[in-house]
Amino acid sequence: MNHRARVLITGTSVAGPAAAFWLARAGFAVTVLERAPELRRGGQNIDVRASGREVLRRMGLEDAVRARTTGEVGTRFLGEDGGVVSEFPVQDGEGHDGPTAELEILRGALSEILVEACDDSVTWRFGDSIVSVDEDADGVDVGLSDGSHERFDLVVVAEGVGSHTRDLVFGDEPQEKALGMYVSYATIERTAADDDWWSWLIVPGSRQAGLRPDDEGTTRAMLNFIVDGPTLEGLDDARLRAALREEFADVGWEVPRILDGIDTSDDLYVDYLRQVVCPRWHSGRVVLLGDAAWCVTPLGGGGTSLAITGAYVLAAYLSQSAAGAHEEAFDRYEEWMRPIVEDAQELPPGTPRIAAPATRAGAQALKWGTKIAALPIVQSLASKLTSGPEATRELPELIAAS
Ligand SMILES: Cc1cc2nc3c(=O)[nH]c(=O)nc-3n(C[C@H](O)[C@H](O)[C@H](O)COP(=O)(O)OP(=O)(O)OC[C@H]3O[C@@H](n4cnc5c(N)ncnc54)[C@H](O)[C@@H]3O)c2cc1C
Repeated sequence: MNHRARVLITGTSVAGPAAAFWLARAGFAVTVLERAPELRRGGQNIDVRASGREVLRRMGLEDAVRARTTGEVGTRFLGEDGGVVSEFPVQDGEGHDGPTAELEILRGALSEILVEACDDSVTWRFGDSIVSVDEDADGVDVGLSDGSHERFDLVVVAEGVGSHTRDLVFGDEPQEKALGMYVSYATIERTAADDDWWSWLIVPGSRQAGLRPDDEGTTRAMLNFIVDGPTLEGLDDARLRAALREEFADVGWEVPRILDGIDTSDDLYVDYLRQVVCPRWHSGRVVLLGDAAWCVTPLGGGGTSLAITGAYVLAAYLSQSAAGAHEEAFDRYEEWMRPIVEDAQELPPGTPRIAAPATRAGAQALKWGTKIAALPIVQSLASKLTSGPEATRELPELIAAS
């Protein structure tokens, strides 16, 4: 490939800056476009595992990420009265991650680290997005929301689950697979009741509630619930808060405090979980990356590791390709990534209902399930199994520009 080829990346969260890092390293001229007016610092606890961790290591960022981890010491399942049912402490060593991984970090902090790691050759543009994409034999003419037009050789779409550019280029090809669950996250005040465990309340009524530590002196709260359809779409924050109050009105433990905290938090994030399944990830000079291509949702887990891995694999194959052979590089990227994406998207039968039981009997069964899973022998086996196939895949070589 001509290593001064111009690449436009859209999205500055995880996949976008990771791709910018590696494509710049391979000698491409990289511009990154972000729709938000500035780097979005919000988001809750995410983790980096397996090949994602290996890519971070190759970026020289493993220590920087470790220095910003949330300090979570493990995951604890609680009964309705708040009593501990079972616990899964963080396990040392690679390939042994349980529900809490060794590298747990806030999404905004990871995003910041990735952006800062990019070299000065990367151009960042905030508050702008793509409105049109016209490809010809020599490149792509990109129309931007500020009315301007620019030409690029390649476009990498890393805009997350609701990607607009994906819809522009791929029309109705991508399928969204709704999982029938709303998740809501917010940052609330930390109190003496909070410790460094991820506390997960098992409660009937098809609901989940949880509290997680962060490294910023606050606490991250989650309230999730099963629904028949996307009933909360388009509601403003006041109506979302009211809907959460109604849904969790009868739940005890720390839930009344979480609801009060959500009332005053400025980062309430409510999402109707859906996976993205695309029959193909590239069309001509445009390629999809990260959640825009394959959102697995927190239920599948590993979305951040897949985004970081995918960014590297894409850049590596482009770095190896001859001028004009981008489609072949995109094919190889897709071939490498598809199996691990499909694996992550395959959810255990009964998900998410089994983890958010409707009845008291279901809640009791889940408690027993976590107790058995927490036995040291089962835990050690399970963490090996859940480390995923990506841990054993060999990453392609990236040819750095000289
Ligand atoms: C604000 C925020 C909070 C999140 N919180 C959590 C969380 O708490 N837990 C969790 O598991 N996952 C969370 N995620 C999702 C998580 O980051 C991803 O699942 C994963 O890391 C893969 O990231 P990605 O870069 O592919 O996509 P995303 O992280 O979704 O990032 C997409 C980026 O593209 C930008 N963008 C969108 N449309 C356009 C456009 N048309 N033009 C230009 N830019 C565009 C967005 O503003 C965003 O910065 C969050 C994402 C965001 C954006």
